[in-house]
Amino acid sequence: MDRKLPVKLPEGYLDFFKKLESWQNERQIYLKNECQFEQYDVLALLASKQEPLFHLKKFRFDSGKYKDTFILLLDFMEQERKEIADTITTITKKTDALDYALLPTKVLEDDGTYVDQLAKFLGVSPDLFLFVADHSLRPFLRIAAQPYHETIAGDSMENWHIPAICPLCGSKSHFSRLRAIDGRRFMFCDRCFTEWESKYLQCIYCGNDEPGTVKYISVEGDDAYQIYTCDKCKGYIKTFDERQNKRSIDMYIANVESIYLDILAHEKGYTNHDE
Ligand SMILES: [Zn+2]
Ligand SMILES: [Zn+2]
Repeated sequence: MDRKLPVKLPEGYLDFFKKLESWQNERQIYLKNECQFEQYDVLALLASKQEPLFHLKKFRFDSGKYKDTFILLLDFMEQERKEIADTITTITKKTDALDYALLPTKVLEDDGTYVDQLAKFLGVSPDLFLFVADHSLRPFLRIAAQPYHETIAGDSMENWHIPAICPLCGSKSHFSRLRAIDGRRFMFCDRCFTEWESKYLQCIYCGNDEPGTVKYISVEGDDAYQIYTCDKCKGYIKTFDERQNKRSIDMYIANVESIYLDILAHEKGYTNHDE
């Protein structure tokens, strides 16, 4: 059952992301048998290099299958986002001109210049193009990340010095949960679905852990959904506290639907340091 939100989200907003997640899950199940990734001693690599695994070890897979997924996502979006269907069609018409071996690397490296150039060539906004390129990559990332989930979540991650960044795919996390049994904090990556531990009362951006300077705020009547703020760098991270609400949640959807917490944080002068 859907939970009651403290604010009303734009019509169809949440529904679109729920359908997108289901679509990605289905695609992931199909691709699982088609994709094979080399396995590494991930903890040793992270400790010695301090760089996300998929940056250290080039993320290689069948570019043809990525192209198929890219085109299928365009079809999905044409159906589910009717208001921008014409714009989507302009991308669909030029799909043969893109380099599907290079694009995933550029998305993972967050290469804005490359994305801007291609978006210009396609005649669409960089945000829309990146959305399609990124979301069609996610099923592959989740397959590649899955074998490491237990290892990463089971380690204290004391040797990982950039807690805001996913140790596997290198994406920035905006959401964490406090585990029901012990209140320990786990960061969540919405790109590859990896979770990793970070210290409960330490800022994930600047490392500040001075007593009384890392605090939390929640909306009345919605106690499990919180923002943790840092007085030093003005950073914030959204958090779901399982101790307040024993029900297990879909972290991906919880991040999307808690957009009101982002608004609240910005109103109070905090930033997720994305800009
Ligand atoms: Zn990730
Ligand atoms: Zn901070």
